[in-house]
Formats: sequence, structure tokens, C-alpha cells
Amino acid sequence: MERQFPVASHSHATTIALIRFLSVFCLFLTGAIFPAADAGELSKADIERRFEPPLHVQEKLSQIPAWPLTSELEPEGGPVGYVFESIDLAPIPGFEGTPMNFLVSIDRKGNFMNVELLRQHEPVFLGGLGEAPLREFVTQYAGRNLKQQFLIALNAARNRSGPADSRRDQTTLDGVAKATASVRIVNQTVLGAALEVARAKLGFADRSQRGPAAQVRPGIDEPLTFAEMLNNGMIGRLRLSNAEVEKLFAGTEGAGVDEEGLARPEAVFADIYIAYLNTPSIGRAILGDAQYKAAMARNFENRHLWWIGSAGRYPIVDDNFVPGGQSSRLTMAQDGLFLELRDQGFDPSAIVGAPELNTSRLFGVYAEAGLDPGRPLDLSLTITRAKGMILPTLTHQTVSLKYAPPARLFIYPPAPLPEWLLAWQQRGLDLAILGVALLLLSIVLARPRWISIDARRLRIFRLGFLSFTLLYVGWYVQGQLSIVQVTGALKALKAGQGLASFLYDPISLLLIAFTLVSFVIWGRGTFCGWLCPFGALQEFVGLLARRLHLPRLHIPLALAKRLEGGRYLVLAVLVGAALFLPRQGESLNEIEPFKTAITVGFDRSWPFVAYAAGLLLVGAFYYKLFCRFICPLGGVMSLGGRLRRFDWLPRRAECGKPCQSCKAKCAYDAIEPSGEIRYDACFQCLDCVGIYHDAKRCVPILLYEKKGMVLTPKGVMRGAAGD
Ligand code: SF4
Ligand code: SF4
Repeated sequence: MERQFPVASHSHATTIALIRFLSVFCLFLTGAIFPAADAGELSKADIERRFEPPLHVQEKLSQIPAWPLTSELEPEGGPVGYVFESIDLAPIPGFEGTPMNFLVSIDRKGNFMNVELLRQHEPVFLGGLGEAPLREFVTQYAGRNLKQQFLIALNAARNRSGPADSRRDQTTLDGVAKATASVRIVNQTVLGAALEVARAKLGFADRSQRGPAAQVRPGIDEPLTFAEMLNNGMIGRLRLSNAEVEKLFAGTEGAGVDEEGLARPEAVFADIYIAYLNTPSIGRAILGDAQYKAAMARNFENRHLWWIGSAGRYPIVDDNFVPGGQSSRLTMAQDGLFLELRDQGFDPSAIVGAPELNTSRLFGVYAEAGLDPGRPLDLSLTITRAKGMILPTLTHQTVSLKYAPPARLFIYPPAPLPEWLLAWQQRGLDLAILGVALLLLSIVLARPRWISIDARRLRIFRLGFLSFTLLYVGWYVQGQLSIVQVTGALKALKAGQGLASFLYDPISLLLIAFTLVSFVIWGRGTFCGWLCPFGALQEFVGLLARRLHLPRLHIPLALAKRLEGGRYLVLAVLVGAALFLPRQGESLNEIEPFKTAITVGFDRSWPFVAYAAGLLLVGAFYYKLFCRFICPLGGVMSLGGRLRRFDWLPRRAECGKPCQSCKAKCAYDAIEPSGEIRYDACFQCLDCVGIYHDAKRCVPILLYEKKGMVLTPKGVMRGAAGD
């Protein structure tokens, strides 16, 4: 058996050390000049340019750096695929020391949609072959499935009649002559990144449920014999007799063709051993101290390494096996996903205590492949039988060995938080700020007298809070509630799906929860009067119009009340469309200008901008025209406000009979001539509350004062003014 580690001479070692130093120095310089070399470089807009409708690119996930793709054809179907930059997930250094970067997209079944070269520094593709062969190489991924084992061969099309491609679980990519090593790194990069996403998002191995990959527990280093390791599971074994193999081929073209096996049915056909070497106890016991040290020193890429040996008639490698390559007989998989198991060019010396072996080699899988060494692996041996001499018919059968080293050798990090909880964690500060603001608003609405009795104080508070609503809630934390959430919820419920998606938007959920509670206590106006960013924007436009002395239009109350039905009509149309014409409904939802004015800050195509700006302009002449007559979300709020349990805006017997002061001042026409408050039209500006409590502005108080009487909520009393 050959040893693969030549001992370097002193001068050779010095040269290597010097080269390493220079390489590190150059990498340092490169890093200083190009600090973002290992990070993705595309924005959402860059990704969007690459995908045409019906596909749409959604916001980048926080759990894993990937953009979900949704389809107009499946509005409720969730992501139909994911697109991601390989450098974010599998930054495997190329020959120049810098990882290549590919834009990879996979569909929800694990089929590659596309692989596009974004950046590469491989010398062979820079000055030699040029990038064209590499670009062509990566086009081959489209349509192939991640669950397949990917092999690379020159002239793969010609090889396709060979044993590898007659198996559906394998696929062969046509390699690039003179760049075989580089395209292997490409393959590792593309597969490693895609497997990470497949595990996290496609449930292939559902890492989000089982947590990150286990790590080797340090400090466990027990001297064990081969037999002890076989007993305690540190070494996995698969033993097959000739009779068992014959049984595998029963009923196939391969049955009865193995004369030697038929003659000696109980003899060993294959006896396979596997041991995970990265755990020191196993590694030292299998390889011995010196050899283990050498193997791990050479494993600077931290690959997962296994010793795999075989005895019997059928070795784990065939006659065409080339050291450093893959064995056509061996495959490794975890949770149904194939891992590229590659020989490490290392043929260890005799294993103490092992039976006589026909093959004994080290195999490895890249650390970036997403393998979890603490969980069971499937090592499969493909047995091929040939029937006939000329153009033989090949039949394949596969047997698998499940290998799981003892759990005590590993540390199992806890499962990551679910994506929605991460979203809440990330928005912690924003939630806290919004929570304080909502608490302040609750206190003001629960005890409105102090703030409202002074008109200036109320004005400062109201304008300050509306500024917070517009700038912070609307434009900064993107907390504009929208009719789209209502119609989306209806569509999800109709499709039998839950409303879990709301959990991913904690700001909106907090606002929704607060608004629902406010319905019962204060009615519709808490949201519309204080928490709607577009409502706030209209209010500011109205104030500006007053400053500019623009004419203010009035509509007779009776007509205004009729027109207010418009928001219910729009709401009914949108709800009907959402339930029965969902695609058209999405367009109809654009009647709501929130996306244009708040979500994208008017950065949209001109018809949308013109519509939103037009509504604001009209609102400059007729106060809050959109809110009062059109807004479907306002309709929802008015309906929700009917849950209100309290008539909390104070009124006197004199309100409306005869006093019309508050009614005249209410900019929302929310006070009837009778003095009664129309809560579903009230925006809770608190102006009438201030007038009610202010002895200098409330007309009945002033009139009674002139008569030397005091008006209190309990009635009229003689004495000095004051309330
Ligand atoms: S009516 Fe519509 S736009 Fe106006 S405040 Fe209410 S939700 Fe906002
Ligand atoms: S003045 Fe009008 S809008 Fe303001 S709180 Fe009173 S009734 Fe509501």
C-alpha cells in the first residue's frame, strides 16, 4: 500500500512556508481592497431584472440568504422556488484563493431552474480558456434535480450509455477539458449552496427542525480496539453473502449469472466497514496516532473524512477507479440527498484489528456540503451484474448501510429560532418604540381631558403623533396597514390556509392587535385618526392647504352621509374580487394608494404616482376625501368600530339643542345636528373633547357663566365658573 504524504526536505519546507506567507499576505491585501469578496453582491432589484412575470421576487429571507420566488399562477401557493448567491452559502475557495459566485435558482422540488456565473477568478478561465466554457458548463444544471448524485465526466453525452447514466439517481455533467479541477469546485459550490437552501426551505432534511449540524465534541479521546468500535457503533458494517446478493437480483436479468456465488452461497460477497475519522477516538483507533495526525493536518479544508474498507469478493472500488476520484460503486446520502463522496488519495497502512481487506481508503465530503455527521448517513454499494458477452445487459442493485456514530461523540447545537420569531427579534427595537407610542396614545384616549383642554397642547401632541405615524410607522418601519392584508387573509382562509404569514410582519401584527382592541373601547377612529400613515399624510396636506388659503369645499351633510357609503361599496367589490376573481382583485386593490405613497415613497411608474398625488390634491380642497368616501380599509375600520362598547366622547344635554359649536368645528362632519357623535365617521381628533372641557370655548358653559351659574356634568349649579 502506498503512503501519499511525501516528507518535505528542509529547504522545500521553507519554500512552502514562504509561499504560504506570501499567499496570506496577498489575500490580506486583496481583502483590504475588495472587502466584500465573500459576500453576495446583488440587490433585490438586480434579481428582479432576471425573472419575468408570472414569477415575482420576494424580500430576502433573514433565516438564510435567499429570495423566495412566487408565481402569479399560484397566488396562494407560497414560494415556487428560491434564488440565491452561492457565495453566501458555500464560499469554497477556488484555485486563486477566492470563492466563485453563481446566481442559483431552484424550484420547490429541488430542480435547478438556472445557474448563472456572477464572478470567478479561476486562472484557467481568466487568461486561458476564457469564461465561455465555464458559462456553458453551468447551463447544464437547469432541469437536473438536487436529489441526484452529480458526476462530472469529459464527453458525458458519449458516456451516457455507461452504468452511471442508466441509473435515475445519478446525473452526469459534461466537464471542461483542461479545467477539470476548477469545474469540480464549481460543482461543489453550486451543490453546496443549493443543498443549504434545500435543507432550510424545501424540507429535504429540514434543518430548521433539527437544528444546525452537530459538531465533534472536543475532549473525547478513548483508546479502543477495532472489535470494541464495531460493538458500540463507531464502526459501521455491512456484510453480504453470495446468497443474499442472489436474492437481490431475483426476478431481474441479473439473476443466476454469478456462477461463483451460486456455487458457494454462504461465502462472503462483500463485507464493508465505515468509520468517521473526524472524531479523535475513532480516528486514532483506526489510523494510529501518527497517521491520524498526518491525515488531519492535510485536511485543512475541514472535510468530513471516513475510512471505508472492504473484504470479500466485491471491493468498494472497481478496476477503473482512480485515486482522488469517486467510486462508481459507492454513494453517500443523508435524508435522501446525495453527497459527493470523493477519495482523498490516501491509502492507509494496515488497520489494527481489522479483518483482511481488499480495499482500505479515506473518503471525504466537503464541509460546505451541509452534511450533519451527528445524524445517520446512508452508505450505499451498487452491485452491477452483466448478462451476455457482447453488449452485455447490465443490471444494478443497491444495498445500504446506515451509519450513525454514537451521539456522545457530538455536540448538537440547539435548533435555530423559527423564521417568524427571528423577524420579531430583528424588529425588537421598532416594536418597543411602537409599543411605547401605542401606550402613550392609549393613555391620551383614556384620559383625553388634560391634553385636549388646551388647544395648543392638543395641536402639538396631535401633529407630533401624526408625524411619528407618517415618518416612522409609514415610511421607516413600513407599518401601513392595508386592504391587501384583509383580502389576503380572506384568500388564505378560503384556501384552507392559516394566517401564519402575519407572524412574519410583527409591526403590522402589533398594529392590527391594537386596532382590534381599540374597536371595542374607542371605535373606528383610533386607527384612522392616529395610526394610518396615509391618513396622516392627507391631514398634513389639508393643513398646508389651509396655510396656503386654498378654498375649502363643503358638501351638505345629507349628501356626505350618502357618499360615505362609497367606502363600503369599494370594500364589497374588493372582497368579492378577492374571493372569486383573485387575479383581478390584485389590480383592483390599487384603488388604495398606500403602496405608492407610503410603501415605495412615490418611487413608482407615473400612473400610480399621478393617482396618489391626485387624491392628495383633491384632499387639499375637500378634507380627507379619500378617507371619507373611498377608502376600503376605512370601511373595514368603520365596520370593526361597531364593536365599540363605550360612548366615551362627552356630550351635554345642550349639545345640538341648541349648541352647534362642536358640530361646526368638526372637520369630519362626525357630529349630527342633534349633537350626537357619529362614531363611524369620527377620527378622534379630540377637538370636541377640548371644547367640552374648556370653559372659554364651550358655549353652554359661557352662557351659564354669564347668568352666574356653573355647568357641570351633573347639572347646573349656582357659583363661580369652573368645571
Ligand atoms: S380612511 Fe383609510 S386612508 Fe383614511 S385614515 Fe382610515 S384607513 Fe387611512
Ligand atoms: S371633533 Fe369630530 S372628529 Fe374630532 S373627536 Fe369630535 S366628533 Fe370626532
